[in-house]
Amino acid sequence: MKNQTHKGSAPLTAKPSRRILKERMCMEEGCTTKLSQYNSRDKCWAHADFKIPRLRGRVGEAAT
Ligand SMILES: [Zn+2]
Repeated sequence: MKNQTHKGSAPLTAKPSRRILKERMCMEEGCTTKLSQYNSRDKCWAHADFKIPRLRGRVGEAAT
């Protein structure tokens, strides 16, 4: 007879290096949008000053 053993008794695995993930919020004043921990920006997408490259046309020829 087999004794009841703990099935799948996982060994004590070392926890992965835990990062201190603080909840960050948009730096924009009044904005309470939480930033994703994967978002390296300081502002939410709505306030992050990133330009949407929509230069589909010719680039270089400046209109006079
Ligand atoms: Zn914001």
